[in-house]
Amino acid sequence: MIVTTYWHVEQSEQSESAQAIAEAASLLRQGETVAFPTETVYGLGADATNTEAVLQIFAAKGRPSDNPLIVHIADTTQLSGLVQPDSITAHHQALMKAFWPGPLTIVLPVLAGSLSPFVTAGLQTVGIRIPDHPVALQLLREAGLPIAAPSANSSGRPSPTWASHVREDLDGQIGGIVDGGATGVGVESTVIQLVEGELYVLRPGGVTAEQLQGVLPEMRIHVAEPTEVAAADTPRAPGMKYTHYAPKGHMHIVQGDDYREVSAWIQRDIDAAKARGESTGILTFEERISGYRADLVVACGSLSQPETIARELYAALRTFDHKGISYIVAEGVSDAGIGSAIMNRLLKAAGHERIRL
Ligand code: AMP
Ligand code: MG
Repeated sequence: MIVTTYWHVEQSEQSESAQAIAEAASLLRQGETVAFPTETVYGLGADATNTEAVLQIFAAKGRPSDNPLIVHIADTTQLSGLVQPDSITAHHQALMKAFWPGPLTIVLPVLAGSLSPFVTAGLQTVGIRIPDHPVALQLLREAGLPIAAPSANSSGRPSPTWASHVREDLDGQIGGIVDGGATGVGVESTVIQLVEGELYVLRPGGVTAEQLQGVLPEMRIHVAEPTEVAAADTPRAPGMKYTHYAPKGHMHIVQGDDYREVSAWIQRDIDAAKARGESTGILTFEERISGYRADLVVACGSLSQPETIARELYAALRTFDHKGISYIVAEGVSDAGIGSAIMNRLLKAAGHERIRL
């Protein structure tokens, strides 16, 4: 155990907050790990050029060493020191212009020797992004380093969207936590790679396939099914093969076009589980919460605003653990827009157990 320093920042411009961010940046420069808010989820940062620092991320999270880390930078001028010259095409530039700062991670050929090899998990590529959050950006600028930062949760647990989630998982194992309140998007960045003139979404996230297509109308875009990636021997996005985001109880998803059929099915399933002695939970949406009975019924955002579902998803998953729920049924959502990222995370949380009616 180490003592984790905790800073609360309101707005990065305020002098107290500026002092906190300066202290956090200084810890990062000294090779320590610091959790900080981004617009997606909280990240656990470390100097991406320093192997000892990077290894502390893997140790604190219990993260498998073959799962590469995303590198966060403050502006595009840092790219030339990290990726191979001439690897950035006009397509890459268009995406950066449209989505940076923002929840888009772009995988590019890494400049040999520029980063700790543990960041890239031995790959020849590195995933990079500029986060769209004032605290994250100021921290990155002050640290003056490329910062490797996966989600600041214990490996396998739901990602943290509040500093309290980081504390729950990592207190005493990391150098510090910068608490900047709730994150915005709520699910991680979209990870993409351009291969032979076509775009591969390696992980759906905050930027939707529809938005990518809007910027590159001629581009062929491939979105990997989570199960496809999970089953592959050498997945392009290595982290995708692990069960992730999971509450401790057993969870599965029920999905169908007819809501009445879905809700009746879920209620029968939950009642049967209750009769077996399980403590039961249902993950649903604001519009539907009154239709269910279980030990814990969680409304995760509103179906009429799917971005609220993304924002609340991980906190909702954690509440089942807080209440000791052993059997959870989740309603699925449509794959359109941000729904693709929501379903990707839900399926992984449920170990891909889905009933389609
Ligand atoms: P996390 O940091 O926990 O949000 O996970 C980062 C994810 O980004 C990994 O699990 C990979 O799926 C993906 N990723 C990072 N770097 C690369 C890379 N060089 N090539 C492909 N995927 C990557
Ligand atoms: Mg993660």
